[in-house]
Amino acid sequence: MTRRKLIAGNWKMNGSLSANEALLNALLHDVGRPGCDVAVCVPAPYFSQVQSLVAGSQVALGAQDISAQSHGAFTGEQSAAMLKDFGVRYAIVGHSERRQYHGEIDEIVAAKAAAALANGITPIVCVGETLAERDAGRTEEVVKRQLAAVIHVNGHCISEIVVAYEPVWAIGTGKTATPEQAQGVHAVLRAQLHHAASEHSAAIRLLYGGSMNAANASELLSQPDIDGGLIGGASLKAPDFLQIIGAAR
Ligand code: PGA
Repeated sequence: MTRRKLIAGNWKMNGSLSANEALLNALLHDVGRPGCDVAVCVPAPYFSQVQSLVAGSQVALGAQDISAQSHGAFTGEQSAAMLKDFGVRYAIVGHSERRQYHGEIDEIVAAKAAAALANGITPIVCVGETLAERDAGRTEEVVKRQLAAVIHVNGHCISEIVVAYEPVWAIGTGKTATPEQAQGVHAVLRAQLHHAASEHSAAIRLLYGGSMNAANASELLSQPDIDGGLIGGASLKAPDFLQIIGAAR
């Protein structure tokens, strides 16, 4: 089955009104009709600005997080319904930085994915091992545990999620997993999805993230189970992000 690739930028806590406008103008000027899906996951204060800038284009708006709660006394949180108000189509959940700095354990990640799905937002569920876990030979065990939490909570609509394999040691470090290392883990995840939801598993997109850039994108994206990328640093430079989009055609 051919899966349409997805290239999603994760701006993290970067940007300003003027920088966002310059970046998106450059991106939209050259993106044309990409041969893949494209999204930018931006800081929440800029949803409104980015919604207007990307309106009518091939670039979708994404969030970097989503609340597991629907409303109420949860200071600082943004609900799925609020994201919907701004046309948000994707929400990253369980990014390793959220797991590390905000104590997001598997159960919270699963609840966030469920909240997104219940509101028609596609969760981009991040999984990935730390360097210590890889060195201890625990990569498979860790990513399978992280994915299992989401599969089991949302078994009924698992086909609507996107999974991003992001080895923690490759994020923002310039150390990319080799195409073989990435494909190896993607194959493990695909087999797990097949086991849990055989009729849907071939349709689920598995992204790679972790220092993907203009130079290494095409080799990574040519692997059979790599269906796109979650791009941090390189998504902040329009020419680099455009080159990665080009490599995903
Ligand atoms: P990076 O970040 O591309 O800067 O390594 C990827 C991510 O954290 O999503």
